Amino acid sequence: MWRWAMGILICGAIATAWAHGQTKLSAKWEELTAAEFREAIARAQGTCLLPFGILEKHGPHLPLGTDLLNVRYVAEHGTQQEYAVIFPEYYFGQIAEARHEPGTVAYNTELQMKLLQATTDEMARNGCKKVLIVNGHGGNENLLPYFAQTQLDAPHDYVVYVQRGHEIPRRAEAEKAGPDWHAGERETSDMVVTHPSLTHVDRAKEESGADQKRVHLPENVYTGIWWYARFPNHYSGDGSLATKEYGEADLQSWINTVVRAIRAVKADDESLKLQKEFYEKSRHPLDTSH
Ligand SMILES: [Zn+2]
Repeated sequence: MWRWAMGILICGAIATAWAHGQTKLSAKWEELTAAEFREAIARAQGTCLLPFGILEKHGPHLPLGTDLLNVRYVAEHGTQQEYAVIFPEYYFGQIAEARHEPGTVAYNTELQMKLLQATTDEMARNGCKKVLIVNGHGGNENLLPYFAQTQLDAPHDYVVYVQRGHEIPRRAEAEKAGPDWHAGERETSDMVVTHPSLTHVDRAKEESGADQKRVHLPENVYTGIWWYARFPNHYSGDGSLATKEYGEADLQSWINTVVRAIRAVKADDESLKLQKEFYEKSRHPLDTSH
C-alpha cells in the first residue's frame, strides 16, 4: 500500500515538474493569463517593453509593417536573454510624410501623444514601473524623446525610457551609392532573416532608392518636407543588395543593444527617485535652494 502510494506521489511530482518545465512564461502581454501576468511583472522587475512600429510604404519590395515586424522580432529575441514583458503591437506614431503613399496610417499629433500617454499610464497601472519604448521607425526619432520630456509636465509613478538606434555593422561597400536609410540593403537584409516570405528582393529594382536632393539647405537647418524632398518613394538605398548574413549581423547588434538597455533599465534605481524629487520641488520653485 505504502509503496503504491509513494509510487503515485513520485509519478505526480515528476509529471508536475515536467509540466512546469514545459510552460515557459511568455514575454508577450497578450499570451499571458491574468495569474501568469502577475508572475511575469515580478520576474521582469516591473520592466516592460513597448516596441514601436509604423504602417508605411517600404520601397516596392517590403511590406507596410516592416518596422513593426522587425522591432517585434528584436524585442522577442532580446527578452529571451533578459526577461521583460512586451506590450502588444503598437504602430500609432509619426508618419505624416508618407500620407501620399497607399497603406500609410498616420494618426494626428494630438491622438499620437494622448494614445501613447494613455498606453504607458495603463502599463504602469498594471505594474510596469519602467516602460522601455523600443523604437523601430525613423520617423519617431523626434516624437519619442519629446514624449519622454513631457513626462515632466505632471507627476507619474513610473519612468519612460526610450531606446533608439544601434550600431550598424559596416560593410566595405556600404553607402557608397548614397544613404541606406529605408527599405535599402540593411533593412531588406533584416527582413530576409525575420520574414523571408514577405520580402520580395526581386522587386527591389522596380523603383529607385536614390537620394533626389531636391532641397538645398545647410545641415543644421531642418524642415519637415526634407524626407519627401530626398526620398519621395519611401525608398532610400538599394534593397536588391540584401543578404541573409548582413541581416543576421545587423539584427544581432540590435538585439544586443536592446538586451543591454533592458539590463540598464532594471538596474536604474535613480530615475524614479529623482523624478519624485523633481515633481515635489517643481510645485514650489521659490523654495529651491542653490
Ligand atoms: Zn523601415
